[in-house]
Amino acid sequence: KPVANILGVPFTTRGFGETVTHLVERIESGEQMHVLTANPEIVMLANENQAFRTIVEQAYVVPDGIGIVYAAKWTNQPIHERVTGVELVEALMAEADKKQWNVYLLGASPEVIQLAAQKLEQRFPNAHIVGYRDGYFRQDEEEQIVQEIASKKTQLLFVAMGSPKQDQWLARYRDQLQASLMMGVGGTFDVISG
Ligand code: UDP
Repeated sequence: KPVANILGVPFTTRGFGETVTHLVERIESGEQMHVLTANPEIVMLANENQAFRTIVEQAYVVPDGIGIVYAAKWTNQPIHERVTGVELVEALMAEADKKQWNVYLLGASPEVIQLAAQKLEQRFPNAHIVGYRDGYFRQDEEEQIVQEIASKKTQLLFVAMGSPKQDQWLARYRDQLQASLMMGVGGTFDVISG
């Protein structure tokens, strides 16, 4: 496996284009995966918190942040470029548009997520945005949200609730969500809607 180890966190060494190709193949073969874009803060957190380390170890971790590229360079490991959440969302939405995938968007404020969904629908008209909702809900609403997402059987599920909350949430529910690629996307919906 093309993996580099940065303070115990297993990062893919694939560059951006290769990462997209690889993820698309895995989606098409019906696999489930939690993609985690990790910067140095995430690496530090994985070193402080055993529960979070386990989440990271079970995810497909991509290098989000130039600090990770430098850390690889200093330890003589072949991570040559950043792979950011915003860019992955763009590239995966382009695939969704080609292949008419189902997509669910979870997170950000109600206004932001509605606008982000509209913009993505305009830009990728053949992708099916089968649902969206904001990221400010109570814990007793989670079961219903998870069921709603699972009922849509999506190829893509993007979750923006900030880091590490979004990845803890995905790890907790990944086996119930019936989504193929699940990824925490941080402030991406704010960027897309703006
Ligand atoms: N967010 C959310 N629910 C929360 C906390 C945050 O939906 O409980 C959203 C927030 O509105 C923003 C996104 O998560 O759209 C990312 O937040 P931030 O930029 O703070 O994340 P980070 O850059 O730390 O990943």
